[in-house]
Amino acid sequence: MSHDANLPALTACHLRTGNLCVNSVIQNIPGFAYTFKLHPDGKEEFLFASDNVIEVYGIDTKTLQENTSKLREAFHPEDLTSFRKAMHYSAQTLTPFHCVFRYVHPTKGLVWLESNSHPLLQDDQSVIWHGITLDITKQKQAEEVLASTASHLSSLLNTLPDLVWMKDPEGVFLTCNHAFEQLFGAKTIEIIGKTDYDFWERDLADWFRQKDKEAIVKGTVTTYENRLVYRATGKEGLLETRKVPVYSEAGELLGVLGIAKDITEQKKAEQQIEFLANYDALTELPNYALAADRMRQAISYAHHNATKIAMLFVDVDNFKAINDSLGHRIGDEIIRSVGRKIKKCLRTTDTVSRQGGDEFLILLTDIQSAQNVSAIADKLTAELNRSFRINSHAFSITISIGIALYPNDGEDFETLLQKADIAMYKAKEAGGNTYCFFTEKMNQDVVTYQHFQNDLKQALKNNEFELYYQPQINLKDYKESGIEALLRWKHPSRGMVSPMDFIPIAENSGLIVPIGEWVLQEACRQGALLHATGKTCTVAVNISAIQFRRGNLEQAVIGALESSGFSPRYLELELTESILLHDTEHVFQTLQRLKSLGIQLSLDDFGTGYSSLSYLKRFAIDKLKIDRSFVKDATQKAENAAIVRAIIQMAKSLNLKTVAEGVEDAQTVALLESYECDEIQGFYFAKPMPFASLLHYSSSLQTKKKVIDK
Ligand code: C2E
Ligand code: MG
Ligand code: MG
Repeated sequence: MSHDANLPALTACHLRTGNLCVNSVIQNIPGFAYTFKLHPDGKEEFLFASDNVIEVYGIDTKTLQENTSKLREAFHPEDLTSFRKAMHYSAQTLTPFHCVFRYVHPTKGLVWLESNSHPLLQDDQSVIWHGITLDITKQKQAEEVLASTASHLSSLLNTLPDLVWMKDPEGVFLTCNHAFEQLFGAKTIEIIGKTDYDFWERDLADWFRQKDKEAIVKGTVTTYENRLVYRATGKEGLLETRKVPVYSEAGELLGVLGIAKDITEQKKAEQQIEFLANYDALTELPNYALAADRMRQAISYAHHNATKIAMLFVDVDNFKAINDSLGHRIGDEIIRSVGRKIKKCLRTTDTVSRQGGDEFLILLTDIQSAQNVSAIADKLTAELNRSFRINSHAFSITISIGIALYPNDGEDFETLLQKADIAMYKAKEAGGNTYCFFTEKMNQDVVTYQHFQNDLKQALKNNEFELYYQPQINLKDYKESGIEALLRWKHPSRGMVSPMDFIPIAENSGLIVPIGEWVLQEACRQGALLHATGKTCTVAVNISAIQFRRGNLEQAVIGALESSGFSPRYLELELTESILLHDTEHVFQTLQRLKSLGIQLSLDDFGTGYSSLSYLKRFAIDKLKIDRSFVKDATQKAENAAIVRAIIQMAKSLNLKTVAEGVEDAQTVALLESYECDEIQGFYFAKPMPFASLLHYSSSLQTKKKVIDK
């Protein structure tokens, strides 16, 4: 340490006090003070080192003063060279020495040190430095943490899909992330220091600036949406931007932070969701929900203006068959075409909606009279009848339309829809390709039908069913060869209901399955009773197609046989052609198993359906029952007689028995006898009768034979 000549003279007391102060400062710094000398020959020497040197270098003052080689060995090799360079530079230029370097401390390991000192040239050309070396390891570590945090933050920002940037209060960019570069079509370094005016048209840049100012004035977040073209790709995007002013801890405005999210896809998805909520995806027509909404609006308008609205329920005829035979893809195309064709026939103010499947709903507002609606219905029918092409196939379809009017038929959407639906069914019942206006009578029919169906549900439980039996006569010996079980329903208020009236309802509702099981049980039970009296004839039971599809027929038959003890050889199942046409493999297997039990099979109402010969053999049918419609007037109509004769001959060649149904007079019996029909069933011999009557039925058969023989 040397004294500066310019310092004012100090008293001994001053000096003592000063030294004490300096010593106490030196003791308390995280480093040591030194006086270091570089001799002209390059020799290095510590003239002084405060006691703290042991803390910093791990070497005591004495060792240090003797030799610096031990010290230099512990310098980080990369830093020793730069340390020496700095020292020689300071010596040559006599400028302050400054160096930050790494040092391997014997106990602490690698530490960071910073040395600062002033050089003084001595008379002997040596240089002496007075200075301090500080341990800055903690500070360095903190800096490293800060630096890595900053780099993490910046890579985090760069991986964000959102655009992030910061501008100073004057609108000069301070920073931005990669996503932001896409919008500007420039690198971060090209953006920093510039303003929006360097990239965008003046108007747009003005607008950005104004939004920045808004955020500053508001003092909180401002949000807005805007469409922009990405300069990097030329693509347009919808951005949702938030701008927020940023302040220092002291409350000084630092700038405006911006974050923008590209919501183009999100908006598209939202629009798609909204579309799907209101429109039908296949036809892009309004769906049920939107139609209902529009109808409600139309009703409130019509109510105030005393006008009428028509609701048309449209259903494509036989669409299921078209779909099943041509496939769903063509089916979908047809539905689309129907939608387009309907739209073509209407005004833009009318609504067409798709209800699902092949059903469409049309709302016609401002209707003057029912004739107007008829004209539109005619137009629709004609337009849809015109053939159209899909994938080079020509199609022509027909539709059924049910019409309900506001306010005549109902005052709300649901009621009108229900009534238009009922009217549509009436149009279908009339054979399709037509339209029907709703009438109150239709409503009555529906109500009656529903009551009827409810009653039918109770009938089994209430024991309201009974089996009647109609004998079948063998023409060879005029003896009863069998009886057919025919179901009767004794309705509590309507009296006896014909199976023609309730079997279709039972089939539609699936009730035919439990009812059919009951018929099998009862027929087998009574058949067994009959056999016990010595009358061994076959009992024929009618089977519905639904029993095959929805029930377990095999189980029902076996159950009925087991519980009654009736012999399967005497049970005959009367099938209809429709049973054999669908799901043939399942039907074939079931029938085969039933046949293997000894059960016989007959085909009812033969001649009215497809009358296919191939399945007669395949399903091993035993008997054909010639339908009453041919037998009825065979004696009057030559062509009916020819059909009956042809059926009998064909059956013979296939080894099948024939039964003629609905024989009402002796002449028909004689005719059938001449054709060699095997058996006869009809009112001429007996009407269907209760089981009790059957037991006492002493046939007048021989008398009847005599009449015919004459
Ligand atoms: P089906 O099986 O063809 O039965 C013959 C029908 O013709 C019976 O009518 C019978 O009474 C009637 N009939 C018989 N001979 C004559 C005649 O000489 N003249 C006239 N005009 N009619 C005659 P029913 O009993 O009203 O049965 C009608 C149909 O109901 C049956 O036609 C059958 O398809 C169905 N059916 C009856 N009972 C059952 C059953 O238990 N289950 C199922 N699935 N259907 C049944
Ligand atoms: Mg029958
Ligand atoms: Mg029949």
